[in-house]
Amino acid sequence: MDYIVVDFEWNQAAYSKGNVPGVPFEIIEIGAVKLDEQGNKIGEFQRLIRPAIYKRLHYVTKNLTGLTEKELRKGVKFPYALVDFLMWCGKDYRFCTWGNLDLLELQRNLKYYHLEDMLPGPITYYNVQKLFRIFYGDGKDASSLEHAVEFLGIKKQDGFHRAVCDAEYTAQVFNKMDKAEAARWYTVDYYQNPRSRKEELHLVYDTYAKDVSREFGGKEEAMKDRGVRSTRCFVCGKPAAKKIRWFAGKNRAYYCLAQCREHGYIRGKIRLKKTDEDRIFAVKTLRLITEEEAEKIGEMKKDMQKKRQEKRHREEHHAG
Ligand SMILES: [Zn+2]
Repeated sequence: MDYIVVDFEWNQAAYSKGNVPGVPFEIIEIGAVKLDEQGNKIGEFQRLIRPAIYKRLHYVTKNLTGLTEKELRKGVKFPYALVDFLMWCGKDYRFCTWGNLDLLELQRNLKYYHLEDMLPGPITYYNVQKLFRIFYGDGKDASSLEHAVEFLGIKKQDGFHRAVCDAEYTAQVFNKMDKAEAARWYTVDYYQNPRSRKEELHLVYDTYAKDVSREFGGKEEAMKDRGVRSTRCFVCGKPAAKKIRWFAGKNRAYYCLAQCREHGYIRGKIRLKKTDEDRIFAVKTLRLITEEEAEKIGEMKKDMQKKRQEKRHREEHHAG
């Protein structure tokens, strides 16, 4: 299996009212590096794309990439560039990207041209930024590609923010990592989210598990679903007793606390996501946590209750 380390440069509407729904960013450059299983560089791909959605270059894009409208007019149309690119990728490969946006924007662009069948999802890939955070960082903060390059002592040659340079740097960062270790932390992009129960994703990692549900008509329906609410222990598969039922917590997520007799506390977190068609699907993370962390969930629930009471009180006061 080869690794395709890919980076896109993109442009956006010069003014927010010029924004085209479903495709906030138009890809204007593809840069990619192909590595074999051992990490040897065996190919390079680069295309400039002639903009068709946002023809004016946003000043941020212009400043970041140094590209001009004149240069881009010499580019090829997106569908042609994509066919070339996917042919070049070959049959047996896995994408590597810096961060989680590149493949999302790629699929949005594909959908705009009704080409989504060219890249069936959900796409499994390696988010090198996430791997860097896990292997070298504090596990929480995301770093810039430039920071990772400096941190790992990789020689800086070209600038940053041109697709093929960023792909090259990302490849070099990826190559510092143990590939078998990286494989344990794969990512699944669910822009092409599950459409049926059968397609639902159940991903299990060392310390956490992630479930991506099928679509529902609304939030209430999603949160009522037994599969969505389930807190079965992802280590042993046995039911974990609910200590705190699902509640609406901070940052618009739902939380719960469960306990497996054998594996201890499990924190449940659900984020409800909206599809482009305004349908709802649930992304649930179950994570093994310490007793201290478990207590924090109880505190959060109390805080939320207090806030709600205060709000109700204010509203009643105003009404009176
Ligand atoms: Zn268990």
